[in-house]
Amino acid sequence: MREYSIAAIPADGIGPEVIAAGQTVLASLEMRLGDVKFTFENFNWGSDYYRKHGVMMPSDGLEQLKKFDAIYFGAVGAPNVPDHVTLWGLRLPICQSFDQYANVRPTKILPGITSPLRNCGAGDLDWVIVRENSEGEYSGHGGRAHRGLPEEVGTEVAIFTRVGVTRIMRYAFRLAQSRPRKLLTVVTKSNAQRHGMVMWDEIACEVAEQFPAVTWDKMLVDAMTVRMTLKPRSLDTIVATNLHADILSDLAGALAGSLGVAPTANIDPERRFPSMFEPIHGSAFDIAGKGIANPVAAFWTAAQMLDHLGEREGSSRLMRAVERVTGAGILTPDVGGSATTLDVTEAVCDALHSSN
Ligand code: ATP
Ligand code: MG
Repeated sequence: MREYSIAAIPADGIGPEVIAAGQTVLASLEMRLGDVKFTFENFNWGSDYYRKHGVMMPSDGLEQLKKFDAIYFGAVGAPNVPDHVTLWGLRLPICQSFDQYANVRPTKILPGITSPLRNCGAGDLDWVIVRENSEGEYSGHGGRAHRGLPEEVGTEVAIFTRVGVTRIMRYAFRLAQSRPRKLLTVVTKSNAQRHGMVMWDEIACEVAEQFPAVTWDKMLVDAMTVRMTLKPRSLDTIVATNLHADILSDLAGALAGSLGVAPTANIDPERRFPSMFEPIHGSAFDIAGKGIANPVAAFWTAAQMLDHLGEREGSSRLMRAVERVTGAGILTPDVGGSATTLDVTEAVCDALHSSN
């Protein structure tokens, strides 16, 4: 029996709904496979915890998480708590302390889901966006001077290091090399930002030399949004900074039909610490508590988690089950259906049991 201990942090809004759904399908998969066991410990951290304790997680929170094989995360953000408090109080400390420097965001149009792109259907947009997840624009450096005065200045400093850029570039080239098309696009904004972004371009050229099998090109981030929309098939693996990839992956999620189907993995490739798996979407309070949150992103990221844990068969079984369900038109309202979170979850469990 292969056993994995997983820390679940459902947190805010629809987070608890989709994480519970994910735990249900993983339990089903466990029964189907018979030789794997997932043991979950749930942590009630997040905005409710913040209202009670003034912090998003306890001071030894990171220490508590260290012993797990993986972290399964819902979403943070609540209407009455500032976004930077929720983000910096829980999600970012985990990513940064556990050096989850590679944020991996696959995009594909799933069967049965309609893309806003004309002439694109199931199986199209087979992209993986690799987001630098440890530095750059989200380093937290900067400040405010002369607060409230007419001469007030606010700075937000993006910090890029040779170590940081080289390791994400290597990760992206390696990933591109492992995919059938061996195609990588490196995204920067090196025409307008002439320091760190030019360094990104230079390091891309250096790393590329170690991966002669990979065909790669460079794009400016503004032009990249156009290419993703008008020439989606010309792309495969994409690497970009923390901020740029954050924006591009929301676009990618929308082009694949909904944020509700977009997963992400925060990976520590060196496996010193647990990696964290979460849907791209946030807490979506507009639909929280209504039972209609799309759980597909949470299922897909659970498949990413299985992959990372070395459970390849379980991962592909789970994705096949998800695709059978979306293909059969069992869809939540965000992707044009009328099914509930529970309907989709039960259908995926059934598909897991009836598959061979
Ligand atoms: P946050 O502030 O935490 O990012 P948000 O309110 O900005 O949350 P997002 O989750 O980023 O909301 O998503 C934007 C919108 O997309 C939501 O308001 C919701 O209507 C829709 N959406 C996002 N995720 C899902 C989902 N899993 N199922 C259905 N609709 C979703
Ligand atoms: Mg949002």
